[in-house]
Amino acid sequence: MKTLTIIIPCFNEADVLTDLITTVNLETRQLPLAKKYLLINDGSNDETLTVMKQLSATYDNLFYLSFSRNFGKEAAILAGLEAADGDFVTIMDADLQDPPTLLGQMYEEMLTGHYDVVGCRRISRKGEPVIRSFLSRSFYWVINHLSHTEMPSGVRDFRLMTRQVVNEILRLTEVNRFSKGLLAWVGFKTKYLTYENIERKAGKTSWGFWQLISYSIDGIVNFSDAPLNFATFMGFISFILSILLAAFYTVKTLIFGDPVQGFPTLIILILLIGGLQLFSLGIIGKYIGKIFLETKHRPVYIIKESKLE
Ligand code: UDP
Ligand code: MG
Repeated sequence: MKTLTIIIPCFNEADVLTDLITTVNLETRQLPLAKKYLLINDGSNDETLTVMKQLSATYDNLFYLSFSRNFGKEAAILAGLEAADGDFVTIMDADLQDPPTLLGQMYEEMLTGHYDVVGCRRISRKGEPVIRSFLSRSFYWVINHLSHTEMPSGVRDFRLMTRQVVNEILRLTEVNRFSKGLLAWVGFKTKYLTYENIERKAGKTSWGFWQLISYSIDGIVNFSDAPLNFATFMGFISFILSILLAAFYTVKTLIFGDPVQGFPTLIILILLIGGLQLFSLGIIGKYIGKIFLETKHRPVYIIKESKLE
């Protein structure tokens, strides 16, 4: 029988873990795959690790990794993918927002032999704060216009992947990991199943407003150089404009003389150009910051303890 590794990143998920494993077991019992759970404790400060240990004592197909601190979901996903040894691999949220029943359908699609990845998309966002839905949609609109890597709106990290796909993802060694992009970047034949949004079972989301904003900016910087082109473009336009203006005023002065005027225009122009320069510097700085982090080659995560077999 082929094996399936289920990677579950967990940050303060003590309240849902037991429920999660019971539910997944129940809803995937028909699945003709030998399941292996791989829970990643991403530096939780509640009882998550204790619960993981209890679960691994109960289920002999449940293993865990525990980080030395919170490294973020991206790091947890990477650790999971690196430790996973299944013929198929899936990534699932701990809060049951990724319906385990879909695994059956995903595997059926996989069996047709047409696909290497079967993922899923939320077609509704009901139960989610309006402002958050709006920002998410805007993010997808922007990134899909700026980046060559296509990231359809509402796609989750929850997906069934073949071993080959996982191996290719692991070859992407960047430290700034934006999984949504990386998973899409490797390509392969992908099918998306659709489902309605499901609200979190228990616990609370670890994503605040500013975290989502900074996550979006990371996504854009990691997968597009369009902002840099924008800075170049603005610089070029300012340059052309200044030449035209210079010519205009030279001729004007020669013909009409030079009464001192246009002080407000001057101030506005100085502010405008100054602002554009700072803005462009900021954009460049963002990319340099990424390069800085990459060149340090720091490990993406540190494992404090684990049980992998
Ligand atoms: N998560 C994690 N590390 C973090 C934040 C979140 O491993 O720093 C996990 C979390 O436990 C959950 C998944 O990532 O399994 C998705 O997180 P959450 O439900 O908070 O995000 P949302 O569904 O609101 O996007
Ligand atoms: Mg969630």
